[in-house]
Amino acid sequence: MSKARATVLVEPNRIETWDVPVFDPEPGGALVRIVAGGVCGSDVHIQTGEAGVMPFPIILGHEGVGRVEKLGAGVSTDYAGVPVKAGDLVYWAPIVLCHRCHSCTVLEETPCENSQFFEHAGKPNWGSYADFAWLPNGLAFFRLPDGADPDAVIALGCALPTVLRGYDRCGPVRMGESVVVQGAGPVGLSAILVAKLSGAREIIAIDMHDNRLAMAKAMGATATVSLKDNAAERRRQVYDRVAAHGPDVVVEAAGVLPAFPEGVDLAGNHGRYIILGLWGAIGTQPISPRDLTTRNLTVAGATFPKPKHYHQALHLAARLQHDYPLAALVSHRFGIAEAEQALAATARGEVIKAVIDPEIA
Ligand SMILES: [Zn+2]
Ligand SMILES: [Zn+2]
Repeated sequence: MSKARATVLVEPNRIETWDVPVFDPEPGGALVRIVAGGVCGSDVHIQTGEAGVMPFPIILGHEGVGRVEKLGAGVSTDYAGVPVKAGDLVYWAPIVLCHRCHSCTVLEETPCENSQFFEHAGKPNWGSYADFAWLPNGLAFFRLPDGADPDAVIALGCALPTVLRGYDRCGPVRMGESVVVQGAGPVGLSAILVAKLSGAREIIAIDMHDNRLAMAKAMGATATVSLKDNAAERRRQVYDRVAAHGPDVVVEAAGVLPAFPEGVDLAGNHGRYIILGLWGAIGTQPISPRDLTTRNLTVAGATFPKPKHYHQALHLAARLQHDYPLAALVSHRFGIAEAEQALAATARGEVIKAVIDPEIA
């Protein structure tokens, strides 16, 4: 058994670089050499402990593209039946579904009631801030189509699957609709991209950072609104643009609680408000429930994309990588030992997408 490096969250707010064992793949599984581990906004909430109890110490990272180092016994294809061999690039859905719980079997829904997001750092481990990820049997991985740029795939990490899951569960954007997206990080940019592909008439992005708003335009936003303007001014700009009945769809991709009452306020008559970004933001916010009734609003949330959403995201990214600057969304790269800086930069909102690149010493 050889050793490799990994970023370990020993306990909340305590990150170390560890030498960890490299385990052979189990039958049905795979050992993958990480090419890029995506740094996700959720990782910041995991780091601080806000996201709940974890089996500490854990290896961070739930988004990855890697190269197959070794396949477990019996594995000759990915989870969509595509032949796969050592050396191929793969992307994965980071949760094993048990297929033996009410959610999996009866509802055909995620999250699985027996799912395990993270594993103890001393055990075979699929955390992606590492030299290797050990993908257990049942963890769905997909071979990158030939020519797919790993950066274009990891740029939208779990964000594009989350958005596809959200529109799947809460209602897709229809041709000619107007959409407001709160937050232009990876989730918001993905929401803009899919709205654009769905034929939205207006797509308005709201964010604090000019570099993110510029990217929102590149992904298909028709207008941008700065969070530096006050809420009344933001609402005026949105309503001036979409007409008096208000936006058909508002997507929360901001990840901060005050976005919620503003999103309810922005949603138009008969509108839908889709909450995607508040996964790690624990707390409450006041709204007027009467608004939901009088404006006939639908407020819905979704999380835990299914393997099919990862598959869709992979193939969408591979197809769109030359039409949209997807790879350019990866604005920062950090080594395994620099994970704390990567998380700090992500928390400050100065990155569009950061990745952990094990080739950086
Ligand atoms: Zn299950
Ligand atoms: Zn993520």
